[in-house]
Amino acid sequence: MKYSFYMKSILFTALYLSMIVIMSGCAKENQENLTVEELTIDTELQPYFERFVAEGAVRGMTIDLVEKRIEGFLIDIEETDVAGQCSYSATSTRKVNIDINYWNSATDLEKEFVVFHELGHCYLERSHSDAQENRNCTSIMHSGTSGCRFRYNATSRSEYLDELF
Ligand SMILES: [Zn+2]
Repeated sequence: MKYSFYMKSILFTALYLSMIVIMSGCAKENQENLTVEELTIDTELQPYFERFVAEGAVRGMTIDLVEKRIEGFLIDIEETDVAGQCSYSATSTRKVNIDINYWNSATDLEKEFVVFHELGHCYLERSHSDAQENRNCTSIMHSGTSGCRFRYNATSRSEYLDELF
C-alpha cells in the first residue's frame, strides 16, 4: 500500500511538471505572435491584391490580408503551364506565387484572374470548382483541366466575382 501511494505521488508530480511545461510552451507561442511580422507583397502585385480587398468589400466581406499572413511574389515557376500557386502551411505565411513570364505577357484582366484565383485558395480557402453551364466554367476557381470554357471579361467579371466571394 505504501509503495503504491509513493508511485501515485510520483505520477502526480510528473503530471504537474508536464503541465507547467505545456503552460510555459503556450506563453512562449503567444509572445512570438506579438512580434511584428514582415509580410511582403510584390509592388506589381499590390494593386491586384487591393482590388481583391475592394471587390470583397463590395460584397460585404472584410478582407484582412495581414491577419491571414498573405504574401505575394513574382517568381519564375519552373513547371510549364502553371501561372500561379498558393502555398499554405500552418507554420508559415501563406504565399501567392505568380509566374513572371505569364505576368509579363498578361492583360490587366488576366493578371486579375490569376491573382484572384490564387487568393481564392490562399485567403478564401476555396478548392477548385469545375462546375459548368453550357460548357462554360461558372467559377473563377476552375482547375483549368476540365475543358470548360472560361471567358473572363468586362461583361462576365461581376458574375464571376459574385460567385468567388
Ligand atoms: Zn487553383
